[in-house]
Amino acid sequence: MKTLEMLLREGTEILETAEIGEARLDAWLLLEYITGKNRAYYYAHMDQETEEGQEKAYLKLCRKRAEHIPLQHLTGTACFMGYDFFVDERVLVPRQDTEILVEEALNLLKKTEKPRILDMCTGSGCILLSLLLEREDALGTGADLSEKALSVAEKNRETHHLETRAELIKSDMFQSGYFEGKKESFDIIVSNPPYIPTEEIEKLQAEVRFHDPFMALDGKEDGLYFYRIIAKNAGEYLKPGGFLACEIGCDQGEDVKKMFESCGFSDVKVIKDLAGLDRVVSGKLPD
Ligand code: GLN
Repeated sequence: MKTLEMLLREGTEILETAEIGEARLDAWLLLEYITGKNRAYYYAHMDQETEEGQEKAYLKLCRKRAEHIPLQHLTGTACFMGYDFFVDERVLVPRQDTEILVEEALNLLKKTEKPRILDMCTGSGCILLSLLLEREDALGTGADLSEKALSVAEKNRETHHLETRAELIKSDMFQSGYFEGKKESFDIIVSNPPYIPTEEIEKLQAEVRFHDPFMALDGKEDGLYFYRIIAKNAGEYLKPGGFLACEIGCDQGEDVKKMFESCGFSDVKVIKDLAGLDRVVSGKLPD
């Protein structure tokens, strides 16, 4: 039988050969997933032999990861804002950069009691659900055109016991019966819409290009398609003084800022991510 250390080495080699970016880290995370042992345990028991079933299962997952299947699809979870969310090929894997959007939303809502939140293009639901977990007085709606994505969001809503506080609805942006009765209803609209220009998608890494849903990436010709719809319609569904905050691609800050301003938003800010790149645009509707 192989020891934990031997398995980790073998897993790392498989991933390095396949040119997986963070080979050792991913090999470790898969080992942790299969054995349920944390790092402290590993370092104290590196010489411990693993069970045959675990060895097989581990190497099988490493070989799948070597095919550039995202790690989160193999383990079925992604950590976002410190919470675990179920993910699979039906939704975009939540990105750490998107936490900047959640943090900005929490900042903007500091003085708002019992905020009503709309998350447009909710996907796995990670943005809406983590906002509701952080703000226990909030209620929210997650909208998405993809029924498949909504099933994943429903599963996450259940895991986090948010059934009574989160509504999930199928809608093509603001075009559905749901929005007819929702004029001036929300304190904030947040969105991480698809924003990659169609032509750029084929240049993305395999994990994204082949395994994130195309629909969750495709921002049409110039990548700005969904921001135009959001900026134009948000004002109608926000309460006076309400906020709009969107994640953006790093070269879209100026364009989206201008769109927000021309649709009547003030205090429009472009916020950077931890890598120093433009990542979020937010604005406020006049009171
Ligand atoms: N809102 C989801 C997320 O940020 C999905 C976004 C998308 O599908 N473009 O992860």
